[in-house]
Amino acid sequence: MFKNKEEFKQIFQNNVVSKLGKPLDEVSNEDVYTILSRMLREFAGREWAATNRELRQDQEKQVYYLSLEFLIGRLLGNNLLNMGMLKTVKEGLEDLGISLGEIEEEEADAGLGNGGLGRLAACFLDSLASLGYAGHGCGIRYQYGLFEQKIVDGNQVELPDDWLQKGFEWEVRRADRKVEVRFGGQVETREEDGELYFSTRDYEAVWAVPYDVPVIGYKGSNPDYHINTLRLWSAEPVREMANRNMASGGNYYNYLNYNRSVESISEFLYPDDSHYEGRLLRLKQQYFLCSAGLQSILRTYDKLNLSYDHLPDQIAIHINDTHPTLVIPELMRILMDEKGYGWDAAWDITCRTVSYTNHTILSEALERWPAQMIRELMPRVYMIIDEINTRFCKMLMDKYPDDPDRVAHMAIVYDDQVKMAHLAIAGSHSINGVAALHTDILKEREMRNFYELYPQRFNNKTNGITHRRWLMHANPELCDLISDSIGSRWITHPQELVGILKYSEDAAFQEKAAAIKQHNKQHLASYIEQKYGTVVNTESIFDVQVKRLHAYKRQFLNILHVMYLYNQLKSMPSHDMVPRTFIFGAKAAPGYYLAKSTIKLINTVANVVNNDPDVKDKLNVFFLENYSVSLAEKIIPAADVSEQISTASKEASGTGNMKLMMNGALTIGTMDGANVEMYEMLGDANMFMFGLTADQVMNYYQHGGYNARDIYNSDPRIKEVVDQLVTPGAFAQNSYEFDSLYRSLLDGNDEYFMLKDFDSYAESHVQIEAAYRNQKDWLKRSIHNIAHSGKFSSDRTIGQYASEIWKIHPVNK
Ligand SMILES: *Cc1c(COP(=O)(O)O)cnc(C)c1O
Repeated sequence: MFKNKEEFKQIFQNNVVSKLGKPLDEVSNEDVYTILSRMLREFAGREWAATNRELRQDQEKQVYYLSLEFLIGRLLGNNLLNMGMLKTVKEGLEDLGISLGEIEEEEADAGLGNGGLGRLAACFLDSLASLGYAGHGCGIRYQYGLFEQKIVDGNQVELPDDWLQKGFEWEVRRADRKVEVRFGGQVETREEDGELYFSTRDYEAVWAVPYDVPVIGYKGSNPDYHINTLRLWSAEPVREMANRNMASGGNYYNYLNYNRSVESISEFLYPDDSHYEGRLLRLKQQYFLCSAGLQSILRTYDKLNLSYDHLPDQIAIHINDTHPTLVIPELMRILMDEKGYGWDAAWDITCRTVSYTNHTILSEALERWPAQMIRELMPRVYMIIDEINTRFCKMLMDKYPDDPDRVAHMAIVYDDQVKMAHLAIAGSHSINGVAALHTDILKEREMRNFYELYPQRFNNKTNGITHRRWLMHANPELCDLISDSIGSRWITHPQELVGILKYSEDAAFQEKAAAIKQHNKQHLASYIEQKYGTVVNTESIFDVQVKRLHAYKRQFLNILHVMYLYNQLKSMPSHDMVPRTFIFGAKAAPGYYLAKSTIKLINTVANVVNNDPDVKDKLNVFFLENYSVSLAEKIIPAADVSEQISTASKEASGTGNMKLMMNGALTIGTMDGANVEMYEMLGDANMFMFGLTADQVMNYYQHGGYNARDIYNSDPRIKEVVDQLVTPGAFAQNSYEFDSLYRSLLDGNDEYFMLKDFDSYAESHVQIEAAYRNQKDWLKRSIHNIAHSGKFSSDRTIGQYASEIWKIHPVNK
């Protein structure tokens, strides 16, 4: 596209003139963003076509990653990085008096996900393309992404995220590839030569129109680009439905209603990532994705002119959690009703094609759809689910004739509810958890019966993050320091980051690492100062907890501890404490009352602490609104301490923990999710672990024996902060505002063991402070964290999915 900076400047300026008709000094940042991203998209378009041609010619096996969420964030900077153009473009723009950083700020985040699950999907796409695999994303092009969070008087307010308002430069609408998705209707059965045939009439049809986004792999020294596709589906009305409506004497208003109901399918993302939402519209979204995705996958497969017997050799379909589980009965339907397969052959093909990732063991998050709802929305699919269940239960009864309870527990349809996880397990060849501990809990507890039935199907794939976005793009100075020290092979072999271990006590390296951290902290501080008009002490420890707000993640424990530190400072003004800045970022699901109260509490404490002249030099609290991918990229490189303090057994993996580790933050955490695997490499010297273990927590749940009130009564520090929740004075304005938080601890017996873990948490914080006082030691620990973070690159994760689940190989590598 351009060979050097001068050529870039020339082409860029030509574009400005020809596309905008303005001289360069009159263009806005928005103009520059648009011109630049359009240039790159058009350039990528040619390479994209080349990758597609190559994939067709080689008949490579293709993976399709189906997910209701892709939390991709911004693309400009990352695409430049992966295309190998970042430095050239940055310097070229600088020559023209334009800051690339400011231009990047013009891009709206593509916030098509809630948190970890959606971000994982985005990291996986980046690794698939960068490693040269033929692996594509399949999702929904929500018109509104995850809501925008504003804090008003300390409370969360949700605003619609109108991310498409200025257009999304990276997508290409492919109206020629649209497919029809059918809802409702009646199933008709017909017998011919002793065979049953099924068809559905009087259904409601909608168009699924794909919008393709190029997923550009990291080029590095490869001769060619590898560009996969993220295909996002948008729902549009079918005009034919209007004609049919008119022909049947329907009125104009019925048609308008139809239009509106169609558009609602891809209108918005459900803003809750931990409570299953049993709404009809959500079920429609799920089937819409599965039906459209499968039609387009099979259309591509049909070009190979192969029998469907070979489908599992050519195609792998992966479902991200149970949300796209309907792809299993839908594939059965197509194979039987449209391709003429009998049950057993269709079932064999389906199971060998589909694989499933479990993301949670929280029972409130497990999807259970009322059978009636599925029956009405997709009657033929329901018949197939029912038959899958009948056959599955019969098999179980043969296997466990004396154990009817086990059969009842494992049934797919039970009590008129369809258990999606059971359907996903029965209909796929691989079920994976997302961290070693999580997979063990699945095998030994939550899904033990299924593990005993299909031990070979269960496996672990510890999550990962793309080091290209989370280290190279978010923290370019650290990236340069690493490459200057050990060369740049680590970029394509992230496990070679261990090479920096030999510099962990090197004074020059330490000094540079410290200067980079300091610079990143100043950068974040100016963001905070600009946005909120408050001063940030960049000499303080930046202690960061950024993630969705949920009781099990225990932001509440963190803020209770801050209240305790405040009380301590107030009662001992001379208390020698290393200054601390606690930084929070978290969105609460709009209907999650306790989570919203926690946000209010954090803001209330922040308001008191930051304005109290007695403590404000030592203790500060900031709640940064609208936590999102782009905000994460600002916060994470500036963090000294990473808070990963979930109740053990509750956090399946976590990925925020990995991002912070990779950027040199030290973790204070529980033995939960992937923290356990971080600890295996880092040990006590480089990580601050505290609290109950998963086994202890699960034992309490099972056998009882925990009494929160005993702890409240015996620990005066705890009693003081808990009472402060409902006593007007230090923090609360009145006695009721935080009453439900208060009652969750005492009347609710502290379901998440905050009081139980408080003491060891506080003790770990004392250790952090002591450790920070010795800067040389601290830097050594920080370097150890960075050095061992290579294991948590999603390149490692995707390599394991590719070889152990999908059986795919990189193309041309
Ligand atoms: C990584 C990430 C998450 C997940 O964070 P956890 O700490 O693993 O829960 C959530 N939201 C955003 C924007 C992220 O980038």
